[in-house]
Amino acid sequence: MSTPQFRVERPEATFPTLSADQIARIARYGTRRPVRRGELLFDQGTENPSFFVVLSGALEIVRPYKGKEDLIVVHRPGQFAGEISLLNGRRSLARGRVTEDGEVLELSADRLRALVQTDSELSELLMRAFILRRVALINESLGDVTMIGSQFSPSTLRLREFLTRNTHPYKYYDVERDPDAQAFLDRLGIRVDEIPVVICRGELVLRNPSFEELADCLGFNISIDVGVVRDLVVVGAGPAGLAAAVYGASEGLDVLVLETHAPGGQAGSSSKIENYLGFPTGITGQALAGRAFAQAEKFGASVAIARSAAKLVCKKRPFAIQLSSGDVVHARSVVVASGAQYRKLPLPRLKEFEGAGVYYAASKMEVTLCKDDEVIVVGGGNSAGQAATFLAGFDKDKDGKLIPRTKHVHMLVRSTGLAESMSRYLIQRIQENERITLRTCTEIEALEGEHHLERVRWRNSTTGEVETRPIRHVFSMTGAVPNTVWVGSCLAMDDKGFVKAGTDLSAEELAHAGWPLERQPYLLETSTPGVFVVGDARAGSVKRCAAAVGEGSICVQLVHKTLAE
Ligand SMILES: Cc1cc2nc3c(=O)[nH]c(=O)nc-3n(C[C@H](O)[C@H](O)[C@H](O)COP(=O)(O)OP(=O)(O)OC[C@H]3O[C@@H](n4cnc5c(N)ncnc54)[C@H](O)[C@@H]3O)c2cc1C
Repeated sequence: MSTPQFRVERPEATFPTLSADQIARIARYGTRRPVRRGELLFDQGTENPSFFVVLSGALEIVRPYKGKEDLIVVHRPGQFAGEISLLNGRRSLARGRVTEDGEVLELSADRLRALVQTDSELSELLMRAFILRRVALINESLGDVTMIGSQFSPSTLRLREFLTRNTHPYKYYDVERDPDAQAFLDRLGIRVDEIPVVICRGELVLRNPSFEELADCLGFNISIDVGVVRDLVVVGAGPAGLAAAVYGASEGLDVLVLETHAPGGQAGSSSKIENYLGFPTGITGQALAGRAFAQAEKFGASVAIARSAAKLVCKKRPFAIQLSSGDVVHARSVVVASGAQYRKLPLPRLKEFEGAGVYYAASKMEVTLCKDDEVIVVGGGNSAGQAATFLAGFDKDKDGKLIPRTKHVHMLVRSTGLAESMSRYLIQRIQENERITLRTCTEIEALEGEHHLERVRWRNSTTGEVETRPIRHVFSMTGAVPNTVWVGSCLAMDDKGFVKAGTDLSAEELAHAGWPLERQPYLLETSTPGVFVVGDARAGSVKRCAAAVGEGSICVQLVHKTLAE
């Protein structure tokens, strides 16, 4: 077996050895070539690297760091190099060097994709290994990014969430906690007020970058050509958009997905989804999103990260979508899968504390910020219930000891109870958990603090009682508003801004929109032929993962019909 330099969960699946028959099948897609000791097959930052199987000799994988190299693993005959970035055409995270003369089998990224699309046994073996390797790199913080930030800085949280949700491994130093961090900043000549600072591949230093700058620095979108007219552009890589991408690409459409933040959408911020079919013990939103993303890329969909649709131009064909970066992409059909985002609490100082005590997701990432502290969860829906039970739960330390995620959870709801808005299984868990206090008829009145949230004042609307508590963390989970501003006046919407489709569109709405065809809009088709809406962005949708995935999958069949018209 390969010899990894750190503990991996499932070594045989992470670093498998291929059989002679499997190698012969891979060989049909690539070329054999001799290699010499010392030869670099790829370097950290190599764009669109090839896939290598070692036939004889040995290949070491190292991470270059501060002028030195950390050994990650050594591959021997029958083993192969690479991880998930091979499929999405991103830059290589590590360096691969031959350490013993021998022979390798080399496949370009395109040929590798063709292989995993046609050979299901090898697809399973390779995809599993690639995903597990990425997980191991994340667990060991072995990547091409170093970040220096502060636990009190909203921008630091914003960027850490971006990297985590995009499953990009990074090493993090906190100026408040790590003695080395300040020395590091001094060496780079960076002032503390310029953090967070991100160093890509040990070279490029970005001071408090935007998502777009960071995505560009990491080469997330290097292999994506925005200049071609696509069969289908999907806006949003939540469950609905990823489903449309998987079905579209697997059925031969040329698909581009645009995503503002990270694959997974709202579901990606869920600590555990328990009602998604086929996962009886539940699955984290991040894991579900990661798998769906890998699946979309396996079938050849391009997913552009940190690329926001700013405007839909729907009067001419092909449709044009203007991006916030200034680029324009063209498409024969469009799927609106831009979902929804959290409603914000109407509090005067909210903005100051977003990311510095007020959060819109409750995942392991946020838990690191509020260990040993009391927290508040606001909201009475399922997402609030999930957040409360997750935050009142436990993690295991290295020795298997249970460590509470937070000291106590106060759950604040405006109504008199949870029965109308939350699933029964969650209500029961909340009622039975003594680490959660449910406070009904209660609303936050004020957030207080200097640089970080320090105190919260709440009021009970029945008794009029006001209480101020020294609580530094509020998880706001109070329903969602649609992300549909970018479609402008192109599509008919309901009064809340959700896009209408199919039989929900009245004759007047269709006439007003200038519907040009004799046929009525298909299911999920909007008031513009060839533009579809799926998932939470659709008026009347049920706001559930499975429903979003179902709609994203169904709409592809209808996309085919409109493309044929
Ligand atoms: C914390 C939480 C827990 C949940 N738990 C469950 C659960 O247990 N079970 C369940 O069934 N459902 C659950 N849900 C609901 C479920 O996640 C949503 O119904 C589902 O994610 C909707 O999918 P979607 O793809 O339609 O939209 P979203 O998930 O909202 O995804 C939309 C995507 O579009 C992107 N986007 C928005 N605007 C643009 C733009 N202009 N350009 C490019 N990209 C854009 C966003 O960044 C986002 O990634 C939960 C939701 C939350 C928030």
